[in-house]
Amino acid sequence: MSTVLIIADHRHGVLAAPTRKAARCAADFGADAVDILVLAEDGADIAAQAARISGIRTVKHIDHAANAQPLAATAAPQIVAAVEGGDYSHVLGSNSSFGKDVMPRVAALLGVGMVTDLMRVLGAYRFQRPTYAGNAVDTLAVPDDRILVATVRGASFEPAAEQGQAKIEAIDTDARLPGHTRHIGMAEHASERPDLGTASRVVAGGRAVGSEENFRVIYDFADHIGAAVGASRAAVDAGYVPNDMQVGQTGKIIAPALYIGFGISGAIQHLAGIKDAGTIVAVNKDPDAPIFEVADYGLVGDLFAVIPELISAID
Ligand SMILES: Cc1cc2nc3c(=O)[nH]c(=O)nc-3n(C[C@H](O)[C@H](O)[C@H](O)COP(=O)(O)OP(=O)(O)OC[C@H]3O[C@@H](n4cnc5c(N)ncnc54)[C@H](O)[C@@H]3O)c2cc1C
Repeated sequence: MSTVLIIADHRHGVLAAPTRKAARCAADFGADAVDILVLAEDGADIAAQAARISGIRTVKHIDHAANAQPLAATAAPQIVAAVEGGDYSHVLGSNSSFGKDVMPRVAALLGVGMVTDLMRVLGAYRFQRPTYAGNAVDTLAVPDDRILVATVRGASFEPAAEQGQAKIEAIDTDARLPGHTRHIGMAEHASERPDLGTASRVVAGGRAVGSEENFRVIYDFADHIGAAVGASRAAVDAGYVPNDMQVGQTGKIIAPALYIGFGISGAIQHLAGIKDAGTIVAVNKDPDAPIFEVADYGLVGDLFAVIPELISAID
């Protein structure tokens, strides 16, 4: 009997895609019942969005002023109280920044271990996850006599459908919230472009782009095809773009239908972030660049000559 609690990810009042992906993961292992927990200042609207996810039994929400911002330190004790108030065998979060922050705390407070980055389901207690920057895949059999706390790798699951009508329940908790952590502010990079984490098309630039100013050619091309913009770590470290644009092992793991990399060599740490992309296109002036080994389409050429040609072809 597996009863799953999914911790909702949401931003600005909107339920984020990873929650639907975690619901798909639970469905894949044939969970007997799946609940979602929303922590918010006023979670009724987000709970209503979550209730539409197919296969969900109950959406619970804890409304508290401390939940106005997603602070892992204050969320974790509330999640644990909700877990202990139910009869859960699995607690699933996403592998977003919030999920990666809060789920280890939940596991520690429950006194159990945790599994990160579930990417494939083989059973309720058997999973696969990437290791060595995605170069190998671990098959794990986890103990079934204790609660399993895990994060789900969003890039590996399709979102669950939205034809559900789950029950919604506001719950209270008397969990003691720590006072040692408080929210100071959120520095967000405003962009009109699609979100890098969920976009269906991504255009990425590497060290070869050469400067923040030159990155304009990447933005320009991305805008022509309605794509989000990403970058290699070398481009981030050189200061050409902010670090929330980094794709890879220590950046964002993405799964667009189309990824186009310009002037990116294809280091394993970068490839770890695009493993689940549908079609990979690479433009590099070195015919031996490792990215060509994983690319579906490769073009040997100078990005500064190729991009204007592509743009005029599109125009
Ligand atoms: C622990 C660790 C974690 C890391 N995490 C990440 C990560 O999350 N993401 C990530 O990206 N990297 C990561 N890295 C760094 C990674 O190893 C590489 O150093 C980095 O990805 C290289 O970036 P790049 O391909 O832009 O640069 P380079 O490797 O320098 O490649 C530049 C490429 O551009 C080509 N080129 C040059 N001029 C042109 C031109 N005019 N037109 C077309 N092509 C041209 C060159 O032939 C070359 O192939 C990590 C490294 C470590 C050790």
